Amino acid sequence: MTAPPAVARANAFRRLHFPGINEADWSDWRWQFKNRIRSLANLADFFTLTEDEANAFTGKMNVPLAITPYYASLINAENPQDPLRRSLVPVKAENFLSAGEQADPLGEEASSPVPGLVHRYPDRVLFLVSELCAVYCRYCTRSRLVGDHGTVGDPSREQAIEYIEQHSEIRDVLLSGGDPLTLPDDRLDQLLGRIRAIDHVEFVRIGTKVPAVLPQRITPRLLEVLKKHKPWLSLHFTHPNELTPEVADACGKLADAGLPLGSQTVLLRGINDDAQVLTQLFHGLLKIRVRPYYLYLCDPIPGSHHFRTSVDAALGIMQKIRGYTTGYAVPTLVIDAPNGGGKIPIYPESIIGRQGDSVLLRNFEGKTFSYPESRAGNGHRFNV
Ligand SMILES: *Cc1c(COP(=O)(O)O)cnc(C)c1O
Ligand code: SF4
Repeated sequence: MTAPPAVARANAFRRLHFPGINEADWSDWRWQFKNRIRSLANLADFFTLTEDEANAFTGKMNVPLAITPYYASLINAENPQDPLRRSLVPVKAENFLSAGEQADPLGEEASSPVPGLVHRYPDRVLFLVSELCAVYCRYCTRSRLVGDHGTVGDPSREQAIEYIEQHSEIRDVLLSGGDPLTLPDDRLDQLLGRIRAIDHVEFVRIGTKVPAVLPQRITPRLLEVLKKHKPWLSLHFTHPNELTPEVADACGKLADAGLPLGSQTVLLRGINDDAQVLTQLFHGLLKIRVRPYYLYLCDPIPGSHHFRTSVDAALGIMQKIRGYTTGYAVPTLVIDAPNGGGKIPIYPESIIGRQGDSVLLRNFEGKTFSYPESRAGNGHRFNV
């Protein structure tokens, strides 16, 4: 087995916090998973906690706490504003419920015909195959579900698979959770095999944050399983600080295995709500062959006010990106509409008006251009 490249940063962190552990253990995803930071008390062993962080919760947390040692090695132990730290370490603001916040912000339960399946769009389903994640994001859309406490619905997901088998209009299955790549290789193999055996399912993808937070998980055996079933992957990335040599190595292996890679990012106040930071992230992703797919406004889960940006701020950021960089580096900005509306793309206004047979358009620099539109009755004969 080829280990990810040894990196001075990871080595120094390992020697400081896990002096008895050798590099092979550190590079073993099971070791990383087992040694995740799971409590505020444990967190204090790694980071100098602020009063706000140390006392964020006295009882049960809204979202569970888990940070892999690898990901902890990327976080500044002294800086509470560190972007990766803010995305995983709870603060007191999570205890405040603001207007419009709901435990199931997308109304997924109402579109769920059987446990663990959301059938919102006519031709595709969201299949929640695990409640487990390698790390837990404080802003998780499925905060109501995620945690190390078993599985969604029945563990075999039999009902969900039968539903997909019985609905021939389903041509696209998105495996999510939780994180499907926390499943053991054999379970993933079986599950993908069952889905691939359904004739009308022509497109399968996996939504996962594992390559960003536990790149050691991309083992030769997992690559074999993925190569066999050929899903596309939607990788959750948040900030350019995640783009380490270990992550480049993991994404390189996935791309070399022939798996198309896209990314999903949530726009988060004080973490990545900056055109320069996002451009750096999107450029970095293209370099490792990941195509930015969606940029989401943060869903209004309970206690998310401090993470959410205004729609105008999001549009303003997109205006500083589109046109200034490679089109492939620009994701679609979307709002997943509350109460089951689905993903709605939002764009800065580009059509300003009409003038005769022409449409007036605004380009990325704010200049106006006119496009002669072809409409019934406005054609003329020429060259006769
Ligand atoms: C996001 C999502 C999908 C997939 O949507 P795409 O726009 O095709 O990426 C499917 N079902 C549900 C419920 C979703 O939330
Ligand atoms: S990895 Fe995805 S499912 Fe898991 S906590 Fe983060 S956002 Fe939620």
